[in-house]
Amino acid sequence: MKITFWGVRGTLPTPDMDKMKTGGNTSCVEVRINEDMIIIFDAGTGIVNLGKKLLQEFAGKKIPPVYLFLTHAHWDHLQGIPFFGVLFCKGAQINIYGPAGKSRSLEELILMQMDDDFCPISYQKLPSYIDYFEIGEEEISLPNGVKVISKKHIHPGGAYSYRVEYKDKVFVYNTDIEHYATRLDQRVIEISQDADLMLHDAQYVEDQMQFHIGWGHSTWQQAVEVAKVANVKQLGLTHHDIKRTDKEINALEKKAKKAFENSFFCREGHTIEL
Ligand SMILES: [Zn+2]
Ligand SMILES: [Zn+2]
Repeated sequence: MKITFWGVRGTLPTPDMDKMKTGGNTSCVEVRINEDMIIIFDAGTGIVNLGKKLLQEFAGKKIPPVYLFLTHAHWDHLQGIPFFGVLFCKGAQINIYGPAGKSRSLEELILMQMDDDFCPISYQKLPSYIDYFEIGEEEISLPNGVKVISKKHIHPGGAYSYRVEYKDKVFVYNTDIEHYATRLDQRVIEISQDADLMLHDAQYVEDQMQFHIGWGHSTWQQAVEVAKVANVKQLGLTHHDIKRTDKEINALEKKAKKAFENSFFCREGHTIEL
């Protein structure tokens, strides 16, 4: 399993000079099981560069089906969709999994992104095929024996964590998570149990958290606690605050490594092989 970070920033893209070593694109992670099995988590602006890479990789060949899982439909997890190059490939198949909104189906949430009041791209004219799969808490079987498990956690409007199991490897994607004020969310610990790599929301540091109760995010310290309790082997901290500079992230990473040796702050373009 090869995991590549295409967008590690939360809330908004941050194309600022002092943040570019970490990366300014919003949430998107590629999980490649093998050449023909493409799984993507979230479609923030990071998915635009991932789309460009996939078009180069499969130039002159048929692109394999894409399995795109959305944690929720906040802008920073959805705003790259209209510009994802695979949508414009003739005959490409894109399977989108995610929760419905409060009053809209998953399909309506995606179509809104491409409504002609907001976007110049006409959804009706796309040459690719898109199928929608609304999820709750469940176990989804994909080709090649890949299993994806989803679990809901605390976030304004709700959001989902995902666990990918393939052969003896486990990858877990936990973003946009707020734990309880006095304890960790047990559901997050359960889905992360014994993961080879867990990504976890680390938008805040402890001093900030008191001012952001109810905003739906975690501190890197809470992420470390989850990693320890759930016996995670490697921890990637992500969904960086829009104000967090490269220099600050380097300093926080040193602290995080002291608290949990096998941890790092996710940076755009970085790949980890499990
Ligand atoms: Zn977010
Ligand atoms: Zn969110």
